[in-house]
Amino acid sequence: MTTVTLITGDGIGPEIAEAARRCIDATGSDIKWELAEAGVDIMAKTGTPLPQTTIDSVRKNGVGLKAPITTPVGTGFRSINVFLRQELELYACLRPCKSYKGVRSRYSNIDLVIVRENTEDLYAGIEFEKGKDDTIELINWLNKHNKRKIGNDAGISIKPISVKGTEKIVRFAFEYARKNKRKKVTSVHKANIMKYTDGLWLEISREIAKKYSDIEFEDRIVDNMCMQLIQKPELYDVLVLPNLYGDILSDLCAGLVGGLGVAPGANIGDKGAIFEATHGSAPKYAGQNKVNPCALILSGVLLLRHIGKITEADKLEKAVADVIAQGKDVTYDMKADRNDPTAVGTSQMADAIIKKIKS
Ligand code: NAD
Repeated sequence: MTTVTLITGDGIGPEIAEAARRCIDATGSDIKWELAEAGVDIMAKTGTPLPQTTIDSVRKNGVGLKAPITTPVGTGFRSINVFLRQELELYACLRPCKSYKGVRSRYSNIDLVIVRENTEDLYAGIEFEKGKDDTIELINWLNKHNKRKIGNDAGISIKPISVKGTEKIVRFAFEYARKNKRKKVTSVHKANIMKYTDGLWLEISREIAKKYSDIEFEDRIVDNMCMQLIQKPELYDVLVLPNLYGDILSDLCAGLVGGLGVAPGANIGDKGAIFEATHGSAPKYAGQNKVNPCALILSGVLLLRHIGKITEADKLEKAVADVIAQGKDVTYDMKADRNDPTAVGTSQMADAIIKKIKS
C-alpha cells in the first residue's frame, strides 16, 4: 500500500479531488489517502492557507495529488502553489499534452511532453521595485559597469540560470524520455540574445545530451519553437525549457490538444512530487458539480506511473480516453454546444470512467 497526500484545495477543488480519488481507487491501486487542506476555505477556518500539517504530510509521504487553490489577486496570501514548489524543491514541472479523440481541437495526434524548470529564471522572485533605495543602488552599480544605461524609473527582475539547476532539469528530461520510450529531447532557449543565461542553458543541455546517445537531441530558439509547434507539432517529442518559456509553451501546447479540461501536470523533485491539473480553481463553478474532472484524473495517471503502478495507470488513462471518445457522459465543456442539456456533472463523469475501468 502507498500513502498519498490528497490536498483537496478550494473552489472546484474538493469536487474534482473526490472524482479523481474515486477513479484512482477503482483501478485497484491500493492507495491510502491522507487528506490535507490548503487554500481560502481552510484560511477562513484557521487563519492560514497552508497548514504545517499539509506540508509535513507531503514531506512524509513523498507524493501528493493536489486540487487547485485560489491565489487572491493583489492582496492576501502569496501563491501556495509557488510556495509548495519552493518549499519541497519540486524543480521539474512535467506537462504531457496529448490529443484524445473526442476533444474538440484544431489538431489531432499531438503527443508532446513539456519539461519546465520550476525554480530559477525570471520566476526566482528576485525583483526590485521602481524607485526603491535598493533598486536605485543596483541601477547605479549596473550603470557603473555597463555601457548601456538604465534609468532610475526602471523596475528590475533578475534572471538566474545556474549550471546545477540546468543540469538537473535537462537530466530529468532525458531520464523521463528514456523511461517513457520517447525518442527526442529538444532544448528551448534564446541563447542568441541572452548569452550568459540561455547560452549557459544551451551549453549544459549539449553536455548532458552526450550522455544519452540513445535519445536524439536538438535545440530550438524559443520564438522559432512557437511557430514550429503551430505548424508541425508532430516533429517534436519531449521539450525541456527554462521556467518562463516553459510556462508560456505549456499553455500553447495545452491549446493544441483542446485546452485546460485535459491538461494534467506534475511538480517533481528529488524528495517528493505533487500531481495537479494545469487549470485553476474556477471559483464561479464551485459547488455546482459541473466542471470537467479529467485533468486531475489524468494527473492521477501520472501519479500512478510515478509510483510504479503502470497497469493501473494504463487502465485509468484508457477509461478516460474511452469516455471522452464516446462523448456521451461528459461535462458541458466537452460537448459541441456548451449548453447541451445532455452534459453530465463532475461526479457522473467520474462514475462513467469507473464503469469503464470495471468493464
Ligand atoms: P481557471 O483555470 O480556474 O479558469 C479558467 C477558465 O477555465 C474559466 O472559464 C474556468 O471556468 C474554466 N475551467 C477551469 N477548469 C475547468 C474545468 N476543470 N472544467 C471546465 N472548465 C474549467 O483560471 P483562473 O480563472 O485564471 O484562476 C482562478 C483561480 O485559480 C485563481 O485564483 C488562480 O490563481 C488559481 N490557479 C490555481 C492553480 C493551481 O492551483 N495550480 C493554477 C492556475 C490558477
